[in-house]
Amino acid sequence: VAAPEKHIIRQHRHPELNDQIEKVVDSLKITDDQLIHIMHILEEEMSAGLSPITHKQATVKMFPTYVRNIPNGTEVGQVLALDLGGTNFRVLLIDLRGNARVELTSKIFVIPQSIMIGDGRHLFCHLAECLYDFMLKENLLRTGICYPLGFTFSFPCRQEGLASARLTSWTKGFSCSGVVNEDVVKLLQEAINEKGINAKCVALVNDTVGTLMACAYKDPATAIGLILGTGTNACYIENLDKVGTWNSDYDEPKQVIINMEWGAFGDNGRLNLIRTKYDEEVDLSSINPGKQIFEKMISGMYMGEIVRLIILDLLQQELLFLGHRDTYGDYKTPLYNRGGFYTKFVSTVETDEGIKFSNTRRVLEDIGIHNPTYDDCAIVQHICRQVSKRAARLAGAGLAVLVNRIGKSDVTVGVDGSLYRYHPRFKRNMERCMETLVNKDVKFALETIPDASGIGAAVTAAAECRSGKGAAM
Ligand code: BGC
Ligand code: MG
Repeated sequence: VAAPEKHIIRQHRHPELNDQIEKVVDSLKITDDQLIHIMHILEEEMSAGLSPITHKQATVKMFPTYVRNIPNGTEVGQVLALDLGGTNFRVLLIDLRGNARVELTSKIFVIPQSIMIGDGRHLFCHLAECLYDFMLKENLLRTGICYPLGFTFSFPCRQEGLASARLTSWTKGFSCSGVVNEDVVKLLQEAINEKGINAKCVALVNDTVGTLMACAYKDPATAIGLILGTGTNACYIENLDKVGTWNSDYDEPKQVIINMEWGAFGDNGRLNLIRTKYDEEVDLSSINPGKQIFEKMISGMYMGEIVRLIILDLLQQELLFLGHRDTYGDYKTPLYNRGGFYTKFVSTVETDEGIKFSNTRRVLEDIGIHNPTYDDCAIVQHICRQVSKRAARLAGAGLAVLVNRIGKSDVTVGVDGSLYRYHPRFKRNMERCMETLVNKDVKFALETIPDASGIGAAVTAAAECRSGKGAAM
C-alpha cells in the first residue's frame, strides 16, 4: 500500500528541504473550484466556436464533421482504413459482419521524422505506398473491386463534406509543407490514383470521431469520443439548432458530431492562471509555440517533458539527487536534453506502490542516475503523480462539460489513446474528479474498445456507401 504522498515527502533526509519541494509541486495543484471555473470558460469558448459571428476568432473551433448518423451495428462490408496522427501509422482491412461484429487485419508502418516535417506530397505518397504494400500482401490489388476507404486523420480540419476536409493547422510533431488549407482527401486520393490502387476515400474522420463511431457500433448510448494519446481532443453529438456554423441541410437526424479541437483551449490566454513556468517552457520550445495550450498540459507528447523540467529545476536547486553531483560532477544525464524523460517513464514510475521503488529505480538508472536514494525515488514519483493527476483532472473537467451537456441520464464515452491505455492511474483520477463535476442525475461510463479509431473510420465509410453516396461495395 502506498503511503500518503505528504508522508513520503516528510521522510526526506533533509526535512528543511520539504517546503521548497512542496512549493514547486504545489504550483501544479488545481482545486475543484478552479476546475469548475475552467468548465465555465470552456462552455463560453464552445459557444464562441459554434457561433458564425465569433467562430473566426474562436480558439476552440467546434468543427461540424458531417457525420450525422450513428451506427447501429448493422453496417456490413469490407472496408479499408488509414489511421494517421498518433504514434503510429496504420493500414487496416476491416470486415464489418453486422450484429456489431468486426474482424480486422492491420499493419503498422513508421513515418520517418523526415517525412513528418518534409514536403506534403512525400507524406501522401508514403501513405499510398504503405497502402499498396498492405493490399499486395492481402491480395486486394486488381480484384475488380474498388474498396471504400475511411481515413482517420487526427488533425484539425474544416470539413465541407464527409470526404472533403481542409487542414487548418498541423499539431503534435507534424509540420509538412503545402498541406495547410488544402483538401487532404483530395491529396490522398491523388496519391492513391497515381499508384493505380483500387480504393476510394469516401470518408475522413478525426480519431475522436472514429472512436465515438466504433464505440457506438457496440453501444448506442455512446455520445462522446475522447482521445488521450500523443495529443488530446474530444467530439460529441450536438443538436443542429445549437450549431450556428452549420450551413448544410436540416434533414433528420437533426444532429451532427462536433470535433471540438479542445487541444487549442487556452490559446487566447484564458488558461494562463493555472499555467506554470514549466508549461510555458514546454510551449516555447515546441514546434508550435502559443498553440495547443490545453493539449500541452495534458497529452502524452508533453507529459514527460513537464516532468523533466520539474526534476531539472529541483536538481538545480540542489533538492534532488544530492549524492550524485560529487560522483558525477556535472550530472551526465539526458535530463538536460529536451525529450530526455519519456512519458512512458511517468507510467512506469507510477506503477510502483510501497517503498521499494523497483520501477522508479530502473527508470532513473536509464537516465544515468545510479543508486538513487529513497528520497530521490519518492520525490520523482511525487512529481510524476502530480503532473499526471493534473492532466487527468483537466481532461475530466472538459469531459464533465460534455457529459452534462448531452442531456441524457446515461452517457457512454468512447475513450482511446496511448496515455489513457498505459498510464496506471489516469482513468481512475479522471473518474474521481468527474464524480464531483458531473450532474448528480447523470450516469457516465468510460469505454475502450480495441482499434477504435480505425474501425470507426470503416464504419463511417460503410454507412456512407450504404446511403449510396460512396464507392460501390
Ligand atoms: C489534434 C486532434 C486530435 C488529437 C488527438 C490533436 O493534436 O489536433 O485533431 O484529435 O490531437 O489525436
Ligand atoms: Mg491514434
